[in-house]
Amino acid sequence: MNLHHQILIVGGGNAGLSAASQLLHEDPSLNIAIIEPSEKHYYQPAWTLVGAGEFDIRDTERPESDYIPRDAKWIKDAVASFQPDQNQLTCVSGAVYQYDVLLVVPGIQLDWQKIKGFKETLGKNNVASNYSFDIAPYTWELIRNFKGGIAVFTNPVTPVKCGGAPHKIMYLACDYWRKKGILDQCEVHYISGAGAIFAVKEFAKTLEDVVKKNKIHTHFLHNVTEIDGPNQTIYYESKDEGGNPLKQSMKFDLCHAVPPQSAPDFVKQSPLADPAQPLGWIEVNKFTFQHTRFPNVFACGDVSNAPTSKTERLATQAGAGGATYSGPYQTHSKYGPIRRLYGLPYSNGVRKTHAG
Ligand SMILES: Cc1cc2nc3c(=O)[nH]c(=O)nc-3n(C[C@H](O)[C@H](O)[C@H](O)COP(=O)(O)OP(=O)(O)OC[C@H]3O[C@@H](n4cnc5c(N)ncnc54)[C@H](O)[C@@H]3O)c2cc1C
Repeated sequence: MNLHHQILIVGGGNAGLSAASQLLHEDPSLNIAIIEPSEKHYYQPAWTLVGAGEFDIRDTERPESDYIPRDAKWIKDAVASFQPDQNQLTCVSGAVYQYDVLLVVPGIQLDWQKIKGFKETLGKNNVASNYSFDIAPYTWELIRNFKGGIAVFTNPVTPVKCGGAPHKIMYLACDYWRKKGILDQCEVHYISGAGAIFAVKEFAKTLEDVVKKNKIHTHFLHNVTEIDGPNQTIYYESKDEGGNPLKQSMKFDLCHAVPPQSAPDFVKQSPLADPAQPLGWIEVNKFTFQHTRFPNVFACGDVSNAPTSKTERLATQAGAGGATYSGPYQTHSKYGPIRRLYGLPYSNGVRKTHAG
């Protein structure tokens, strides 16, 4: 068994698959292996549409084998720890792999347990979340059957994958209830850990109009602490001027909640994590995605500490190694260093990949 690879990729999600396919497209002789434990690949952005009744959940799940590039090796295992000083990592199976270059893209961790009662009530008691493949269809069941009352949508205090997803589903629900003629009987609340509806001003302005049009009550800088499913009550808190917690609660008839998120624990506890960030994101140069302390290590997608939104769009473009994405999330991140290591041409345009 070959336990050494020129390029080793941790995670065969959107970023990992894009990086592998783009690099092999330019040089099929590269020795690339992808470590990915899951037999399935999930198209997560469509889960919002599943929750809104516009997409079938079964169409968001495909065999991972369909997407692993032909010339890459798939190691069906999960990484447990990193030893970057020795250019190696260790898998859950105990296998140790070495690399010249490492790309770490295992996505983000959903910390359901950080909201008391959430996991226990998920999928019942009128509590749903599009952040779960199993539960997204229940969101639609709730929205479709809603007859009016209090509908609560939440957004945690941590960064999340797709900053829009916690509130996109709220607008889609309101739209459906308007068409059904019951929006006037719905009292919609948005409880968010953020200070505004969206971080990008241009988008925030438009979204504020949508919030107003739907008479949505916003509660910014509020942290959801507990969801009591059987009593259909949500608990949340803010801070007063002295920094003391102000606890509040609200009864609900429908609740779509989003879990707090962080880097996966095996990353958080590794030498790759940014020691300044308790959520454990990997510390990279924001222009190159190269690790700031281990030059042959790279990270992008949801797990990096790059100051971008955590989206499929950016994961695939960064992973594909070269896009200059002109838009509100503009990033100049490029895989120039990986390319240079292998004498590959430097890419400066948006590239088409199977996933992008
Ligand atoms: C509800 C929802 C709505 C969204 N909407 C949008 C949208 O509209 N637009 C948009 O651009 N983005 C959206 N996203 C975000 C998008 O899906 C992610 O940003 C994107 O998938 C990140 O890519 P990634 O490769 O970093 O992580 P992922 O695609 O999550 O892939 C990570 C991979 O790593 C693997 N892995 C995990 N642990 C290990 C380990 N120990 N060892 C090896 N491999 C491991 C996983 O099995 C997985 O295959 C949405 C996400 C959700 C949940």
